[in-house]
Amino acid sequence: MKYNRFSEGSILFALLMLLVPVFAACDEAGPENGLRPAERQDHPSEMNYNTPRQPEIGTGYTPKPGWETSEFAVAAANPLAADAGYQVLQNGGSAVDAAVAIQMVLTLTEPQSSGIGGGAFLMHWDGETVGAYDGREIAPAGAGETLFLDDDGEPLPFDEAVHSGRSVGVPGTLAMLKTVHEKYGRLPWEELFRPAITLAGEGFSLSPRLHQQLTREKRLPEDEIARNLFYDEDGNAHPSGYILKNPALAENFRKIAEEGITVFYEGVIAADIVRRVQEHPDPGPITVDDMARYPTQNLTRDPICTPWLDYTICGFPPPSSGHLTMMQALGIMEHLDAPEVILQDSVPTAEWLHHFFESFKLAFADRNRYIADPAFIDPPGDSWETMLHPEYLQLRAAQIGNASMGIAEPGDPGSTGLQKGRHPEQPDQGTSHISIIDRYGNAVSMTTTIEQGFGSRIMSDGGTGLPGGFLLNNELTDFSLSPTDSDGVPIANRVEPGKRPRSSMSPTLVFDRDGGRLLASVGSPGGAAIIHYTAKTLIGMYVFGLNAQEAIDLPNFVNTNGPSVLEEGRFPREIMDTLEAMGHEVAERSLTSGIQAIRVTEDGFFGGADPRREGVVMGE
Ligand code: GLU
Repeated sequence: MKYNRFSEGSILFALLMLLVPVFAACDEAGPENGLRPAERQDHPSEMNYNTPRQPEIGTGYTPKPGWETSEFAVAAANPLAADAGYQVLQNGGSAVDAAVAIQMVLTLTEPQSSGIGGGAFLMHWDGETVGAYDGREIAPAGAGETLFLDDDGEPLPFDEAVHSGRSVGVPGTLAMLKTVHEKYGRLPWEELFRPAITLAGEGFSLSPRLHQQLTREKRLPEDEIARNLFYDEDGNAHPSGYILKNPALAENFRKIAEEGITVFYEGVIAADIVRRVQEHPDPGPITVDDMARYPTQNLTRDPICTPWLDYTICGFPPPSSGHLTMMQALGIMEHLDAPEVILQDSVPTAEWLHHFFESFKLAFADRNRYIADPAFIDPPGDSWETMLHPEYLQLRAAQIGNASMGIAEPGDPGSTGLQKGRHPEQPDQGTSHISIIDRYGNAVSMTTTIEQGFGSRIMSDGGTGLPGGFLLNNELTDFSLSPTDSDGVPIANRVEPGKRPRSSMSPTLVFDRDGGRLLASVGSPGGAAIIHYTAKTLIGMYVFGLNAQEAIDLPNFVNTNGPSVLEEGRFPREIMDTLEAMGHEVAERSLTSGIQAIRVTEDGFFGGADPRREGVVMGE
């Protein structure tokens, strides 16, 4: 394939994205919105692309138009990454090819959220079958129940656990992508690294969001590689628009492109990752053997496909709690009598929100008790789908009345006789979502993460000795820090060697009821709230009758079996008052989702990207 430094269409759109904080709505979509075929150039090195000067703006809320395409569509959280995917698809690549190219560019341009130092889940549709591919990080052999306990046997403060070598799991993103590429790639593996190698070597324009996050970040500058890469001599974060080069990453990409992933899992890159973690002031147990042991094949899992309304929703099974929890809540809601008015002035009504919050409380109570890595924990019944059995969900729905139930208790969907402890709620945040539908009818929904913004704050240069590198995840803090609950009962999601931490990531593919026709690819970052953001988008599209962009634009609302949290400034006071009168503890927070969704339409596709982040949709 030819990689153009920046396609014509994307220059136009990047300018719009970066210079114009608020742009006009849908009628500006069409050929002027960045969707024109890029003019391919035969000599990429001669391409005369000048990165625009960009003002230092906050990312805030930037309305997005929604994008209509006819042949293919790609949505990613960063315009440069979306552009790489676009060019791959335009050059005949498959959805999986585009996902590989996008992930490499995201490692560079959105390093705070995902990368080769992290993990990912990918859902795939090949026109006939749905597949689920697991690139979740794995706990090292030396990581046991006491990993996050102090000398007195008490759990470490959460931030201390995050900012340490202890939190680093063996990264799985590359192994997973290689597996899927072997099956569904159309372009050679090495070609897919070209956009990222070019951008890392020649430099890319640091985005406003990355700048903002670097400025707020306290611990990252403690890492020498990160300090030299992202900050100036006075310790100030480089401004947005700064042309950031990352020679170490370019060199690592070159090696992985040419030599394959062995260099990452068994070669110099593995050795450097291990050294950085072990030499950290609060070291972790990861070894070169752990790196070499990450499975490079058979990373497939059986996806869970669940009927809902007139649709079939396919999602990721455990170790993700995303699909099970979302479909429990949506399934419980199906058993409730919907209030007469569910949406008013583009905001859900208090009565409808009450149903949503109560259903999610019940689902989160089960999630926190039962869901963990299936290699270590049995499902509460014959299979995980027991948790979605209509009779069980009907019983759960019967617990919902007109007033808030307060905190929900876990149910008993089919006891295995195993008692499991209660998982405390722990914060998580970061992550990126990619949705792609190619011209051959394949689709990808991939959510990818290094866990927190900037992960463990440990960087590796892959042993190159060059400036720059990539961030290592802190995914192991997705385990319960404490192995037991307050009654001393072991928690399903406790740390164990070789185990994958429970996730909330919910990459989702939507089909018609008999599962034969793809309707959408959806997903979001956002920690545990990923589950609500994804549910909200499905509800927006299929219950409220909105297009993908309008569904994403809806205000966010979250309940993880505690307070009912509303997106700040988006709900009228009366809604909060009514919820409070029903007994809800109401809180307002920013709730920054990063949803991407592509929907199949009669004429092609219609995609939306979250106005709360920098994502875009591109296509032809
Ligand atoms: N590490 C989280 C998970 O796998 C995702 C973090 C986030 O999206 O903020 O569930």
